[in-house]
Amino acid sequence: MPIQLLPISLANQIAAGEVVERPASVVKELIENSIDAGATQIEIDIEQGGAKRIRLRDNGAGIVQDELALALSRHATSKISSLDDLEAIQSLGFRGEALASISSVSRLRLTSKPPAQETAWQAWVEGRDMEVQTSPAAHPDGTTVDVVDLFYNTPARRKFLRTAKTEFSHIDEVIRRIALVRFDVALTLRHNQKEVRQYRRADSDSARQQRLAQICGKAFAAEALQVKAEHDQVQLRGWIAPAASCRHQSDIQYLYVNGRMMRDRLLLHAVRQAYADTLAEDRSPSFVLYLELPAIDVDVNVHPAKHEVRFHRARQIHDFVVQALRPALVQSASEHSSESMD
Ligand code: ADP
Ligand code: MG
Repeated sequence: MPIQLLPISLANQIAAGEVVERPASVVKELIENSIDAGATQIEIDIEQGGAKRIRLRDNGAGIVQDELALALSRHATSKISSLDDLEAIQSLGFRGEALASISSVSRLRLTSKPPAQETAWQAWVEGRDMEVQTSPAAHPDGTTVDVVDLFYNTPARRKFLRTAKTEFSHIDEVIRRIALVRFDVALTLRHNQKEVRQYRRADSDSARQQRLAQICGKAFAAEALQVKAEHDQVQLRGWIAPAASCRHQSDIQYLYVNGRMMRDRLLLHAVRQAYADTLAEDRSPSFVLYLELPAIDVDVNVHPAKHEVRFHRARQIHDFVVQALRPALVQSASEHSSESMD
């Protein structure tokens, strides 16, 4: 075969392979876009585990009519324009790929109205060249992204979809992860027209505590030790369960770096080490932790789905986390053991 350029739709489908693994990945990308647009209210409607439909509506800044087509194009983003911006990234998105990727593997319709624009417009793509079509629409301030028939044209991917129940549980988890870090955003989740979750905006400590209990359970919210430490521009906040209340398995392991949920082995290791010998080998720690550090000290451009980061001062960060957590954990362990001796 001679060398030839791939049709745009195929190039986008290949890119979609990296970011759009299942309905939950679509939900994650769309919520991140809404949050980057400053939304304080996000409603998510799911049908049949997301395979049939994922519709997300926000009250964010919206997209002006002239930029709708760009929003659906690959490598088009309003979030960075230079390498310097990338290195100091504040937004959740920056790759400019999500909407183009999702459009290439579903029937996607983007409808938006910035407050300053009189009417709403909608856009969708068609054909091998993914040409963008637009037309006027009716819509309040904000944006709706409607994703129908995910993977209808990529049967190999579609085959990997699990039952609606399983796919929905992944979506539910994605939303929990966001709800645990964006207490300032109200989130509503419906499945097949039935409301399943309602996270109200939590602006006070008690409201935040309530949302924590809603997501992680009353026991965790009541027993967890509050964490607050800062050193050399690095900050750690959150909650961690004392060793005595840790079980064999924990679903409560949420770690955020600059507002992004991560699975980071270095940080997990640090958390584990902070318990030191107070936590038995076969117990699993529970925690919700937020690490904040200057954007320049961390590289988020490691993985397309942004699940991983790379720290420039890995050793220091690790040791800081151990030291931030250890005193409280060790103290609670010694209190617990003296209580049980009485
Ligand atoms: P990225 O988020 O990496 O920039 P996306 O493909 O997810 O790439 O989105 C492309 C662009 O579309 C964004 O940069 C943003 O300008 C715009 N956009 C997407 N979703 C929204 C939204 N819900 N509200 C406002 N603008 C949006
Ligand atoms: Mg995005």
